[in-house]
Amino acid sequence: MNTKATATSKTTEARACACGTCHEAVSAKATYRPGHDARHVSYLLQGLVNSYADGQPVTKALINGMAKELPSEPLRAKFLRAADRLVAKETEAAKAKADAAKEAKAA
Ligand SMILES: [Zn+2]
Repeated sequence: MNTKATATSKTTEARACACGTCHEAVSAKATYRPGHDARHVSYLLQGLVNSYADGQPVTKALINGMAKELPSEPLRAKFLRAADRLVAKETEAAKAKADAAKEAKAA
């Protein structure tokens, strides 16, 4: 008889919440702790805000690359919409700053 112990390969490895900020475990079926999908989107947006603050270039490719970290299409869409608004705001702010500098020089 085969007395080989049936190695119950139980994958007890807990998966971490995908938001990237809480590092809490989630069940095998879940990707996020409740509400942390929104948190993941804000976390990525904060990365863009930080890039602007550091004077790093924020490109469409960067934004699209970040969107790929999100596990679902609705979340990616949500992130891309928010990123668009952020880029518009930052572009406007940069333009206003440049205009102010120009005026200061002209005066
Ligand atoms: Zn989380």
